[in-house]
Amino acid sequence: MPRGEAGAHAETYLDANATEPLRPAAREAAIAAFDLPGNPSSVHAAGRAARRLLETAREQVAARFGARPAGVVFTAGGTEANALALHGLGAGRRLLVGATEHPSVWAAARAVAGEAVVTVPVRSDGQADLEALAALLARPAAPPALVCLMAANNETGVLHPLAEAAALCRAHGALLHVDAVQAAGRVPVSLAALGADSLALSGHKLGGPKGAGALLLRPGLDPAPLVPGGGQERGRRGGTEPLPAIAGLAAAAAEALPERAAALAALRDRLEEGVRALAPEARIVGAAAPRLPNTSCILLPGVPAETQVIALDLTGVRVSAGAACSSGKVARSPVLEAMGLGAAAGEAIRVSLPWNAGGASVERFLAAWGAMRERLRRRAA
Ligand code: PLP
Repeated sequence: MPRGEAGAHAETYLDANATEPLRPAAREAAIAAFDLPGNPSSVHAAGRAARRLLETAREQVAARFGARPAGVVFTAGGTEANALALHGLGAGRRLLVGATEHPSVWAAARAVAGEAVVTVPVRSDGQADLEALAALLARPAAPPALVCLMAANNETGVLHPLAEAAALCRAHGALLHVDAVQAAGRVPVSLAALGADSLALSGHKLGGPKGAGALLLRPGLDPAPLVPGGGQERGRRGGTEPLPAIAGLAAAAAEALPERAAALAALRDRLEEGVRALAPEARIVGAAAPRLPNTSCILLPGVPAETQVIALDLTGVRVSAGAACSSGKVARSPVLEAMGLGAAAGEAIRVSLPWNAGGASVERFLAAWGAMRERLRRRAA
């Protein structure tokens, strides 16, 4: 039985896209790093030991995601990695941002370029509209662009056609920043293979501890720091590096291999079949596009997402609604609105299977979801 599955009272945690459960190897690596007293910037032996740990983690992350060690900037997480890319690479460029990008990308883009940020639309299946991107890139006399497209969407799991987008960007002298926070560890991700210029990662989405992320840069790019300081991270990010979180990130990255994708996709497919069998009126958003193997965005017409999330939570099943839930409040999802769902954009929940999910959690979800839907139907009748 996979870890986290056992026990009559075990909660059914299906919110991996918010945070993956900590991987045991990441926990061990973080604990070992807690016991190193040195500061990686100190020249004495304790400092050098801390530095070795930091540089080993950097090499592991670089090798795992197709970068060079010198191109890895450790940050506090995905939000900061996106912000560093936008601020450090976007100044003086036109910013073209995918309609379904994460709020951390949108907020940083607006901070850099205000209302001049241009939206790259998505099609109704959730994938970036490449014809629209090509037209935006081809505008005559426009300054060179920085394009931001995520590898996988956090709400629907939809994967964007990044190889094609990267080719378009290259052809027009544009930079491409990829938010790979949700894709990393779940589908193959490589900065070099994608031909992107920068790529954002987050430790806790890989099964590492919260508190570390990374921006990967292709050779030759050197963004100005958001946080200047003592010259750490080659002057790109000041401040003593959070070694336990970084060591945990590297250990998680080594374990988070897309090889588990087929098993997770089979569980996800079973879950979606179950939903369709229980409720013909339900819709799986983004199902027409290639998706992450662990993510299912389930729309139940007429039922606010918040009602669904709370009803499931009362039965021990943890899922989320749209992206705007960081303050504990659920709003209509801009991602689903961008896909043309209109008012129904407030009626979908996200089920995201963690790396240690097994069949039992899918069955518990279906039992809870089916009972919730029945109750709501009886009440409405
Ligand atoms: N990008 C995407 C696609 C995300 O889903 C998230 C978190 O939900 C982030 C960035 C932000 O990452 P972090 O929580 O590490 O700041």
